[in-house]
This record gives sequence, C-alpha cells and structure tokens, in this order.
Amino acid sequence: MIGVLAIQGGFAAHRKTLDRCGVASKEVRLAEALEDCDALILPGGESTTMLKLIQAFDLKPALDQFAASGKAVLGTCAGAILLSQRVTHPEQDSLGWLPADIERNAYGSQVDSFTESQSCPTWNLAEYHALFIRAPRFTNIQGETKVISRLGDQITGVQYRNLTAVTYHPELTDDTRFHRAWLDHCVYSN
Ligand code: GLN
Repeated sequence: MIGVLAIQGGFAAHRKTLDRCGVASKEVRLAEALEDCDALILPGGESTTMLKLIQAFDLKPALDQFAASGKAVLGTCAGAILLSQRVTHPEQDSLGWLPADIERNAYGSQVDSFTESQSCPTWNLAEYHALFIRAPRFTNIQGETKVISRLGDQITGVQYRNLTAVTYHPELTDDTRFHRAWLDHCVYSN
C-alpha cells in the first residue's frame, strides 16, 4: 500500500499512475492513515501551503517517524522542496530530512514550464518524459546524497537512503516507468 499525501496539490495523478502500475494506494490526510503504508509520496503543488497544512493538522511528528522508520519516501517538485534541509528563493521551513539545498521556482514562473526527457542510470531508466512546472533546482547536495538525474549540468533528482526527490513531475505523463522503477528499487526491493 502506497500512501500519497493528499492535503494539497497533485496527489490524484500519482494515484492514477500507481493504479496503472497495478499497485494499491491511499490518500493520507491524517497520521493514522500512514499505519499500513509501505511507502509515501509527497506530490507536487504549493510547498508553502502544504507546510502550513502539515502544521495545522499536526502531521509532522507522524511524517518524521515514517521517514525515520526507513520506509521509502518519494517527493516530486513541491514534495522535493518539503524534503530538502535548506530551502531558498524564498527561504522557508521544510520537513528537513534530505541533506540538500533547493531553490524554489528556479526556472521562472508557470509560463516557463516545460517537458524534458530524463534518464536515471541508477535505475537503468532511459528517456522518460518529465514535466517541469515552476520547478525547483538542487543547488547543493551533501553527505551520502546521490544524483540520480540531471538536466544539462543541473541536478534534477537525488537519492539519500530511503528518500528520493525529483524536481519534475513523472506522474503527469502516460509513462509509468519512473514509478515502476521507484517501486522496484526503493519500495519492494527486498
Ligand atoms: N513552485 C512550487 C513551490 O515552490 C512547486 C511547483 C510544483 O510542485 N509544480 O512549492
């Protein structure tokens, strides 16, 4: 069972992609909903709003515990912002689990959104489509954090222990390979 944080943003598209992968998912709005989840997705959306709602619903302790348990967590776009330890442009708090710096809205505004082909050699994944929508950019990574995808010389995807974060939206295309690879390599790998 994959939990998808469903307090704001694009959770429905992740669930649709997981459906296509033949994997059960559920919407997570309350701490109790995490109990039977094998992994969690933090979707794209508006990270400031998500953060406020996480605080308002007092979800942070349960989310912290979930991540600390070692279960896989995937953050896409705003989800990647929530995961990163240092957030700039503008500065804001985060869940702070991932040793990385991330700059919000690094490619401009909504009209500057674009689709790009990405590859993830770590997962033997070539040429999958990814949408960048008011996308952030990793400006620095630390410690054991590894790069899993790039756009030119920019870091677009990283992995740190059980955490995966990408600055794009792999769930907004018909291509399910990114999610399948994450499920195979990070969620159901044992
Ligand atoms: N720019 C948004 C933010 O800072 C993220 C955009 C997205 O998730 N597509 O939260």
